[in-house]
Amino acid sequence: MALTKEALQALVALQQRDKFLDSIQKEIDAVPPRIAALKADLEGEKRHMDAAKAKILELEKKKKSKELDVAAKEEAARKHSSQLNELKSNDAYKTMQAEIEAEKKAAGDIETEILQIMEDIDKAKQEEKAAVAEFKKTEEFSKKDLEKLEAELSHAKGRFETAKTERDAVAAGVAASEMKVYNHIRSRGKLDAVVPAVGGHCGSCQITLTPGLSLELAKLKSLVTCESCQRILYKPEALAATPA
Ligand SMILES: [Zn+2]
Repeated sequence: MALTKEALQALVALQQRDKFLDSIQKEIDAVPPRIAALKADLEGEKRHMDAAKAKILELEKKKKSKELDVAAKEEAARKHSSQLNELKSNDAYKTMQAEIEAEKKAAGDIETEILQIMEDIDKAKQEEKAAVAEFKKTEEFSKKDLEKLEAELSHAKGRFETAKTERDAVAAGVAASEMKVYNHIRSRGKLDAVVPAVGGHCGSCQITLTPGLSLELAKLKSLVTCESCQRILYKPEALAATPA
């Protein structure tokens, strides 16, 4: 295919534009994971806060149940005390008295447990207060960070659109056949599709170019690709030279 110096220059210019676009795209792609990480952080703090609240409720429920147990034991002791005088035998009296003592002791033990639960509730309330403060702090910070990231994203998208328009204008100056080769190389992950040949070597894979290939390059008559890495080659000095 016929090639002109201008066509090769257009390809090099296109690659510069594409690299610029790639760098902006990279910035754009980096934002969503950062937003997700912020949201995950906040979710974590919220779970922590909810767990602290749930713990208080659970302890209060436990306390209530223990209070009912105390009341039941005390009621049983009262009832049995009132029955003491009705008992005829000494043995029955002693047995009942022991039972009453056991009920009173059980009520006392449960009271001790309740005191411990009340201490636990105090502790849980402090933990909850700290968790709420931590959540609010994180919420405030992440709100600011989110706004910053969203502004960054929208700014990057705007820059991308501008750069894309400029890139497309440059691409319009590249012939379809050359564009096909260029796109094919880039689609295989070689984003530097056009590389200079320096000192008889491919500027990318460094392989020594055959004399025939070097001659083709100097002629600037057709598109030359590296035999090893398939990238499009050009001679920087040939592109820089001013036409006669
Ligand atoms: Zn190469």
